[in-house]
Amino acid sequence: MRANILIVEDEESILELIAINLHQSGFNPIRALNAEFADKLIHEAIPDLIILDWMLPGMSGIEFAKRLRSDATTKKIPVIMLTAKSEEENMIQGLNSGADDYLTKPFSPRELVARINAILRRKAPELIDEPIKINALHLDPSTHRIKSNDTSIRMGPTEFKLLHFFMKNPDRVFTRNHILDKVWGSQSDIDDRTVDVHIKRLRDSLSVKGHQKLIQTVRGMGYRFSENPEN
Ligand code: CA
Repeated sequence: MRANILIVEDEESILELIAINLHQSGFNPIRALNAEFADKLIHEAIPDLIILDWMLPGMSGIEFAKRLRSDATTKKIPVIMLTAKSEEENMIQGLNSGADDYLTKPFSPRELVARINAILRRKAPELIDEPIKINALHLDPSTHRIKSNDTSIRMGPTEFKLLHFFMKNPDRVFTRNHILDKVWGSQSDIDDRTVDVHIKRLRDSLSVKGHQKLIQTVRGMGYRFSENPEN
C-alpha cells in the first residue's frame, strides 16, 4: 500500500520536484500550494504524512502545524517542516509548533525520502516498502527483484505483488477476497478464481528453488505464506 503524502509548498517547481521524487520512491504524493487548500484536502482524506513549507502565502506553515496539532483528527499526522531558515532559533520554533522533523532548503530529495522513511518506520511501518528477507527468500520492492540466497527468481508483476503481500504478512491466512482486495485493489471486478491462477504461477516460479511449499493452501479458508513450511 502506498503512503499518501501531502506536500504543502507554494513554489511550484519545488512542489513538483518533491512530488516526482516521492512517486519514484513508492509514495503517493498529493499537492497543495497553500495551507487553506491543504486543510480542505485533509478533511476529505487524512494523509499518512505532511511535508509542510514554513513560508506560505496566507496561513504560514508554523500556524498550520499548530492547527493540525490542536485538532484531534489531525494531531497524529507526522509533519516534516521545510524552510529556508537555518538558524537554530527557527528550528526550535519549527519543532515546538509540532513538526516531527525539520529540513532546511536546499535539501536533497534523497535526504527527504530518508527522513520520511525514518518517520514512517516509527509510526506506520506497514506503509514503507523496505526489502524483506524470510529464510532464504529476499524480496526488494524498489528493484522488483526476488532472490533465493544469491540466485534471482523470475516472476511476473502480479506474482511479485502477491508474494510481496504474503511476505509482509507471514503466517496469516487470507481469503481469496481479501487477497483480491489487497493485491488487485478493491475496485477490481475480477473473479476470485484469478487468485488461484496466480497462486499456481507463483508456486511454479518459487519451485525453481524449491520454495513452492512456502505458499500453503488452507482448506475452506484461503492461502497463507508460511515462514516454516516444514512444521
Ligand atoms: Ca515558500
